[in-house]
Amino acid sequence: MSVENLSVASSTAAKKGVVIIGAGLAGWHVIDAIRAKDTEVPITLITADSGDRYHKPMLTMAISQNKRASDLVRASGSEAANTAEVTLLANTQVTDIDPVSQTVQVRSTTQSDDTLTTIGYEKMVLAMGAHPIFPKSLPQDLVWHVNHIERFSQLQEKLAAGSQHVAIVGAGMVGTEIAEDLLKAGHKVTLIDLNDAPLSQMLPAKATARIAKAIESQGIQFLGGYQVSAVARVSDDDNNDSEDGEKLQVDYAPLSSDADNTDTQSLEPLIVDHVIASTGLTVDEQLPAAAGVEFDRRTGIVVDAATLRTNAANIYAIGDCMSINGVACRYVAPLRAQAATIADDILGHEHSGYDHKPPMIRLKNKAISVMVTGVPQAAGNWQVKTESDDELIMDLIDDNEAVSATVTIKAPAVPKA
Ligand SMILES: Cc1cc2nc3c(=O)[nH]c(=O)nc-3n(C[C@H](O)[C@H](O)[C@H](O)COP(=O)(O)OP(=O)(O)OC[C@H]3O[C@@H](n4cnc5c(N)ncnc54)[C@H](O)[C@@H]3O)c2cc1C
Repeated sequence: MSVENLSVASSTAAKKGVVIIGAGLAGWHVIDAIRAKDTEVPITLITADSGDRYHKPMLTMAISQNKRASDLVRASGSEAANTAEVTLLANTQVTDIDPVSQTVQVRSTTQSDDTLTTIGYEKMVLAMGAHPIFPKSLPQDLVWHVNHIERFSQLQEKLAAGSQHVAIVGAGMVGTEIAEDLLKAGHKVTLIDLNDAPLSQMLPAKATARIAKAIESQGIQFLGGYQVSAVARVSDDDNNDSEDGEKLQVDYAPLSSDADNTDTQSLEPLIVDHVIASTGLTVDEQLPAAAGVEFDRRTGIVVDAATLRTNAANIYAIGDCMSINGVACRYVAPLRAQAATIADDILGHEHSGYDHKPPMIRLKNKAISVMVTGVPQAAGNWQVKTESDDELIMDLIDDNEAVSATVTIKAPAVPKA
């Protein structure tokens, strides 16, 4: 089976089976896991995008490696659907879920009419990811994000026009990685964050100060402790070298600005070619609410840690849209084991239950090596284990005197001459 249009899809509703919402890494992992154990059960994959299979972490490495979006696609949605023998409803948005009749409503994102089609399910997997948060000061029509290959591809095309100035707002992992990638690709990069250093929501100041130093010495302009207050289009006739001749003005101010502070008043806005928002992710509440699924505004869909079932009958969740034990789980490594558990549970196979272990987190930057285990958070009792010019190891000690996270920071090895 392959890509179907919606009128054909309504006839497949009679077959029911498993419906998966979302064709990111999570959705495809579930398909792989089910097909490894059962080649017969009908699976319908519904996704708002093309369904193409790609490895999302590559999006913060691709530009400097001169890889285009098409180079990152391992298989088109229709090829992958044929191989896995699933019915793919690409460019199709799920607009509603009725957990009583066990149906979903869908509509095409490419056709202009608003016709809704109903599809039945016996089991459903929510794998619909999380979407970027755009604060009011970052209007979506002016600002890029790198949370999806389609949007990333449009940005990459613009950047291919030559060296440009890019402001990145938010110095979490994605912002810090894309900053280095763009710098290596020859662009001027300004990275702006509310905090004094990158990764400040995750790690203690002693650790993040090293990261700030490393990226600055690389040539990234880091503006720590600043808040972007507005992004607006300016026509810059004197400096008209971006592809469409338009620049963006980024207004920003120290977070602790006070009216008497002369520094605040003298801040010149940045004039840049592009702004990328990497200001965090949030899960859309609408579908979980419709499905009667327990939901946490901050971390997403709540699942049972051992089965990955939601509290609604026959509905599971995986990937960026779900959280385990109150912690959002937005990394690739656990997906395989999570998908295997969901597959076993759906197919009625006995299983020992999913055993969640926080994945090792590794920053992909080359200027500095940052590796984190456990569940890190900036606040808390961080203790230095090793400290030298080349290495810093710190443990986060919890209330029971146990180590709940460890960060290891190393200076990169200097290549031999
Ligand atoms: C730039 C970047 C770099 C990263 N680097 C790393 C890394 O180095 N290591 C690591 O472990 N993790 C990394 N991550 C995180 C990791 O990539 C994600 O955790 C993972 O890809 C999430 O996959 P997902 O399938 O849950 O979500 P997504 O990839 O967001 O997929 C969601 C899918 O749901 C579909 N969808 C949403 N709503 C609907 C709807 N209503 N109807 C139909 N379809 C819908 C979308 O179209 C999409 O296909 C990175 C993330 C980013 C953005």
